[in-house]
Amino acid sequence: MSMYLCMECDRLLDGDYFPPSEHPKDDMAFICDDCMAELETPMADFQQGVMDCDRGIRHKEGQSKAYDRGYGFQYEKEQRITEQTK
Ligand SMILES: [Zn+2]
Repeated sequence: MSMYLCMECDRLLDGDYFPPSEHPKDDMAFICDDCMAELETPMADFQQGVMDCDRGIRHKEGQSKAYDRGYGFQYEKEQRITEQTK
């Protein structure tokens, strides 16, 4: 078992379950997959996904990963809000 600290989110992660990537800006540092995907996310696609979900537009097929992430991000947020207002 090997632990490492993600530079971006400061989480201590288990390398067996969350394989680290080299930080694109600092090759001495590690970064978790989540943050790596975050860094690679084109913001426009991400925002488009957030907006579509926010407007109640059904999830579109064949969009980029960033779109999916944005959509899922907003969806989860709405689920949490729904839970809280019950
Ligand atoms: Zn991270």
